[in-house]
Amino acid sequence: MSSCHETPPPRAGRHSAARRGAEGGLRVALAGNPNSGKTTLFNALTGAHHKVGNYPGVTVEKRSGFCVRGGKRYSLVDLPGIYSLTAYSLDEVVARDFILDEKPDVILDVLDSTNLERHLYLCLQFQELGIPVVAALNMSDEAEARGISVDAGTLSRTLGIPMVKTVGPKAEGLDALLAAVDEAAAAAAPGRGGRERPLHAIRYGMEIEEKLESIERMIAADAAFTQKYPTRWLAVKLLEKDRNAYERLAGHADGERIAAAARAAADWIGRHFGKDSEIIVSEQRYGYIRGALKEAITVHKKADFSLTEKADKIIMHRYLALPIFVFVLWAVFQITFLVGAYPTAALEAFFGFLGETAQRLLPEGLLRSLIVDGIIGGVGGVFSFVPLIVILFLLLSLLEDLGYMSRAAFATDKFLHSMGLHGQSVFPMMLGFGCSVPAIMAARTLKSRRDRIVTILITPLMSCGAKLPVHTLLAAAFFPRHAGNAVMLIYAVGVALSLACAFLLNKTVLRGDPTPFVMELPPYRAPTLRGLLWHVWEKTLQYVKKAGTVILGASLLIWAITTFPAYQPAEGERAALAAQYRAAHTEEDDAADAAAAAWADAEIAGKALEYSFAGRIGHAIEPVFRPLGFTWKIAVAAVTGFAAKEVIVSTLGILYRAGASGEGEDDADSAGLENALRSDEAMRPLIALSLMLFTLIIPPCFAALGAIKAELGLKWVLFEFAFLFALGWLVCLGVFQIGRLAGF
Ligand code: GDP
Ligand code: MG
Repeated sequence: MSSCHETPPPRAGRHSAARRGAEGGLRVALAGNPNSGKTTLFNALTGAHHKVGNYPGVTVEKRSGFCVRGGKRYSLVDLPGIYSLTAYSLDEVVARDFILDEKPDVILDVLDSTNLERHLYLCLQFQELGIPVVAALNMSDEAEARGISVDAGTLSRTLGIPMVKTVGPKAEGLDALLAAVDEAAAAAAPGRGGRERPLHAIRYGMEIEEKLESIERMIAADAAFTQKYPTRWLAVKLLEKDRNAYERLAGHADGERIAAAARAAADWIGRHFGKDSEIIVSEQRYGYIRGALKEAITVHKKADFSLTEKADKIIMHRYLALPIFVFVLWAVFQITFLVGAYPTAALEAFFGFLGETAQRLLPEGLLRSLIVDGIIGGVGGVFSFVPLIVILFLLLSLLEDLGYMSRAAFATDKFLHSMGLHGQSVFPMMLGFGCSVPAIMAARTLKSRRDRIVTILITPLMSCGAKLPVHTLLAAAFFPRHAGNAVMLIYAVGVALSLACAFLLNKTVLRGDPTPFVMELPPYRAPTLRGLLWHVWEKTLQYVKKAGTVILGASLLIWAITTFPAYQPAEGERAALAAQYRAAHTEEDDAADAAAAAWADAEIAGKALEYSFAGRIGHAIEPVFRPLGFTWKIAVAAVTGFAAKEVIVSTLGILYRAGASGEGEDDADSAGLENALRSDEAMRPLIALSLMLFTLIIPPCFAALGAIKAELGLKWVLFEFAFLFALGWLVCLGVFQIGRLAGF
C-alpha cells in the first residue's frame, strides 16, 4: 500500500540532478487543463490537502508532496491548469518554466476523457518537450456514463503516449498509473538528459516540417540551446510566434540569426497557406488529434450531453444570458445576507461578551485598554463578518464547480469587452465583493497581462466585506428608513465606477484590445462537497490571515495613537465637569449622580482623544478633508481606513465613545455608536454619504495592496494608490459640494 506524506517547504533549487540524488525518487509533474482532476489525483496519491507554498517570485500556488509505493518513492508537483504551452497567462508561464527549468522525470498529464480533443492539444505539446509523458484518462466514469468509450490501448499506440484510465474521486487506476510512470521513466533512462526527438511526435505536414527542420538544425548547432531546450519544441514555438520563445533566444550568440530565420519561415508559411503560421500549426495539431480519436473513440449514445445542451439553450441564450446572470448575482447576495445575518449576530455577541468579561476581570489601566479596545475590539470587529464572506465564497465556488462561472464569463464577455475588460474578469470581480485579496489572485486565469492589470486595478472598487460594516453603520444611523437601499446604492456605484475606470484605463494607460475569448464551456457537473469546502477554505484562509496579521497590527497602532500621549486631567476637573452636568439637569436622585460622573468621564475621554496623536493628526489633515465635509474625527477614521476598511468602524467607536453620554450601557456597541454619530452636530446624512463613498473608493487595505504588489509589482501599487485616492477625493468633493448647494 502507499504511504502518504507531504514534503517539507519547497525549495527554489535549480539543480535537478542534485535534488534527484537527495530525494531519491522519481520527480513527477502533474499537468493538464484546468478542471481535469489534477488536484483530485494529487490528493489521492499523496493524501496531502494543504497548500504548501508559492512558486518563487510569484503568488501562483505550489503544491508538492510525495508518496511511497512498493518501496519506490515519487515526488509530485501539482502544476497550475493551462490550455496550451504558449505562455500567455501567468499560470502558463509558471507551468512551462517549471517543466523547462526543473525538468521533471515524467510529466503526468491529466486528461478529461469527456473532452479529449481539447485536452490532447496540450498533451501533444508536452510530448514535444522530449520529457516522457504519461496520460491519465481521468473522468473515465463520466465518459462511460455518457456513452463515450475510449480505447486506451489504440490511443496510446497512435500517439505514442502511455494512457491509463482513472477516476479521481474514487482513486481508481492509481496503481496502473504509477506503473506506467515507472515504465516511461525507465524507457527514457539511458538517454536521460539527452534531448533527442521522441519516437512518436506529431507531424505538421510537409511544408511546415521542412521549415521546422532547417530551424532545428540551426538550434542544434548551438550547444547552449540544446542543453536548455528541446530542439523541436523550440522550433515549433518559434513558428507559432511565441514571444517568450523569442525572448529566450535573445541572450545567445546565434539568437539573432535563428530568430530572423524563424520569422522568415513563419512569414513564408503565412503567405503559402493564406493564414497566420500559428493558426496553421494549431489546425495541424487538431487535425492530427481528430484522426487519432476517430480510431480510438466510439460514442454509443448522446443522451447525457443533451442535458447540458438543453440547459445551455436557456442559460446561454442570446438575450436571456445577461438577465439570468444578473438574477444569479442578485440571488447570491440575497442568500448571503439572509443566511449570514445569524452567525454574524452570534459572533458579534460573542466578542461583545468577551470584551465585557475582560473589562470586568482586568484591573483598570493600560493593559485592560489594550486588550479590550485594541485587540478584542479590533480583531473581533473583523471576525464578526467572516461568516458573510464564507457564505459568499461558498456560493461562488458552488457556481464555479457547477460550471456556471465560465458561462457567466461567456455571457458577460461582449459587454465587458466594450468596457475594456474580459469575460473572465467576472469571477475576480465577484470575489471582490467578499475580499480583494483572493479576488486579485483569481485574476491569474486571465490570458493577457493587460487584461490582468485592468481587472486587478478595478477589483478593489467592488465593495468588499470589510467595507460593509462601515456602510451598514452609517446607513442605519443616517438613512434609517432606507438603510438597505442606501447600502445597495453604494454597491451599485462601486460596480459602475469599476466599469468606468476600466473604460478610462483602456483609453489611456492601458491601451489595447482585450484578448478574444478562448475558453471552453465545461459540462455542468455536480460539485463534490470536498472540492467545495477546499475552495472555500482556501479563499477564507487568505482573508483570515489578513485579519490575524494586518488588521491586528492596524488595531494596535490605532489604539496606540488614540491613547498616547496620555492626557492628565487637571486637579478637580472631573468634579467640575460633573457639577456642570448637575447644574443643567434638575432631577435629584442617585441615578443622576452616576449619570453626571459618566458624562464627566466621557468629556475627559474626548479631551484625551483630542490630545492624543490621533487628535493631532486629525486636526493637521482636516484641511484636506474639509471640502468633503469631514470633521477631524471623520478624517482620522477615514485615514485609518487605509490600513483596513473595517478599522474605520472601530476607530469611529473609539472616537465617539466620548460622545456616547453614558446611556444604554448594555449595548453601547452598535446602537450606541449610531446614536453618538447622530448626536454629533457636525454630522449629517450628506456627510455620511460622502464617508460611505470615500470608504468605497479609496485605495484598498494593506493586504490587498500587498497582493497587487505580488501580482503586478510596486509600480502598479503606487499607481493604484494615487489613482484611487484621487478618484475617491474627487467623487466625494463633487457629491458633498453639489449636495450642499442643493441644500442637503
Ligand atoms: P484541477 O483543476 O485539474 O485540479 O481539477 P480538480 O481536481 O479540482 O477537479 C475538478 C472537478 O472534477 C472536481 O469537482 C472533482 O471532484 C471532479 N473530478 C475529478 N476527477 C474526476 C473523475 O475522475 N470523475 C468525475 N466524475 N469527477 C472528477
Ligand atoms: Mg487544481
